[in-house]
Amino acid sequence: MNDDQDGPTFDALGLRPELLHALGTLGYEEPTPIQLEAIPLLVGGGDLLGQAATGTGKTAAFALPVLQRLEAHRSGGSPVALVLVPTRELAVQVSEAFHRYGKDLGARVLPVYGGAPIVRQLRSLQAGVDVVVATPGRALDLLNRGSLRLDEVATVVLDEADEMLDMGFAEDLEAILDETPEQRQTVLFSATMPRRLDALARRHLRDPARISIAREQAPAGEAPRVRQTAYVVPRGAKPAALGRILDIEAPTAAIVFCRTREEVDSLTETLNGRGYRAEPLHGGMSQEQRDKVMSRLRSGTADLLVATDVAARGLDIEQLTHVVNYDVPSAPESYVHRIGRVGRAGREGVAITLAEPREHRMLKTIEKVAGSPIPVQTVPTVADLRARRLDLTRAALRESLLGDELDRFRVVVETLADEFDLMEVALAAVKLAHEAAGGTDDDEEIPQVSFRPDSGKRTDARGAGRETGRPRRSPGGPTARVFVGLGREAGVRPGDLVGAITGETELRGKDIGSIEIHQRFALVEVPESAADDVVRSLRATMIRGRKATVRRDRT
Ligand code: AMP
Repeated sequence: MNDDQDGPTFDALGLRPELLHALGTLGYEEPTPIQLEAIPLLVGGGDLLGQAATGTGKTAAFALPVLQRLEAHRSGGSPVALVLVPTRELAVQVSEAFHRYGKDLGARVLPVYGGAPIVRQLRSLQAGVDVVVATPGRALDLLNRGSLRLDEVATVVLDEADEMLDMGFAEDLEAILDETPEQRQTVLFSATMPRRLDALARRHLRDPARISIAREQAPAGEAPRVRQTAYVVPRGAKPAALGRILDIEAPTAAIVFCRTREEVDSLTETLNGRGYRAEPLHGGMSQEQRDKVMSRLRSGTADLLVATDVAARGLDIEQLTHVVNYDVPSAPESYVHRIGRVGRAGREGVAITLAEPREHRMLKTIEKVAGSPIPVQTVPTVADLRARRLDLTRAALRESLLGDELDRFRVVVETLADEFDLMEVALAAVKLAHEAAGGTDDDEEIPQVSFRPDSGKRTDARGAGRETGRPRRSPGGPTARVFVGLGREAGVRPGDLVGAITGETELRGKDIGSIEIHQRFALVEVPESAADDVVRSLRATMIRGRKATVRRDRT
């Protein structure tokens, strides 16, 4: 999508101009590995068994071919593609992706999931849709009512198939697949490939191509020696978390990698607004603009470069100390490549990754391929930051005591000593030095979340159940998710929900698990035994000054 890249392009994949336009608008610069392999195959009509986790760009890998083939299959009002997903949040996310990519094609996409009023979904189905993105339970319900017709379906996608099996949807999947035409195209994506999934694939996929994005282990010793850390951060808190981490790390020079041009531009603006000196670098900029950015970084006029992979290709920045992945990279190889930019010539390099709660698996895959563990830490708190700033002030004062010519200030101290205790004089001087070094305290608490609860328990390829060590804040025992019908749009922050729950029930902060804040709703993980109490209490209380719809999340 730009002139000076030597890597693969979306144009080369033969996608329709309407899709290329949408991708350009979204700022996607090049296909991810899974897209590169899957798109031509799926456009050609073949079946596919793909092993890929969230964060690899798998949604576009199946959505773009479905949209590419839309016109050829579109008939009346019946759906031509059915995407089955394990959870309502994924249904919303996937249908939003279809919307974004298929806008210029006028694609009609409908998410259907349990827990939402069925009447609206029935009405939309009646009006005609091209793509249905559904959780299996609700899809079956609609099928049984005769409202969802699958006889025109040309493509079925099973997304996060291992999750669907884990959640007990095996029979529902079989029943749904039986209602679709035999000559359909079938696509199955899964982060892991347990044996049960193989059986399902054998029954329903015809001679599928197999793609796995993490098939290669990096040769031993290739991974650079770099201090690696990941932080789990909800999407909305990422800019604040990044700021906090940068304050603590105090890099000499850092590259912050983003997925798209839009993200590069908006993050640069946010960082500059927060007082950092950041410069954007992406494929949409002219050579002259890019040269200017690089010289500002080299001369120390800027200390943060916010870039896409494509734009940063081939850059070698001498003074680089930190690489930050603002998102988990879409391929393990790209992680290894990015962090290889620091830790050269015997200097310590630091690699920091901000992962969203649902990106646990991709991080695990990266660990495997990169051949080194990536410890997960909590985002530094306000108290950590204050302590770190005091540390920096102390170090600066120590340096001054050891080296500087201080005698000319003696008269100031002696005069003040007549009136005050020496300790008090010293304290006042430290305060001034601290404030002059920019030590004003930011007091924005960043929500502490953990990886999504259902992304830690995995069945491995040999079919043996296994629990991976996942950071959890809620104590052991079953948990339930509570749906709250207010989200970012209403200004809701995790603290509001924690406050409301701990204020109205017997739960304490540490009993509450992951919290996801979406545009119009939020999901909170609480102990199963307390879920009904939480629902009752939140119904009776105000959140951000408003009453919210509250219920158990059923998908
Ligand atoms: P997924 O693995 O499908 O959940 O996608 C992960 C994220 O990557 C989503 O936010 C997508 O919008 C984004 N994404 C997908 N493909 C690309 C691409 N080729 N370039 C940049 N971002 C992408």
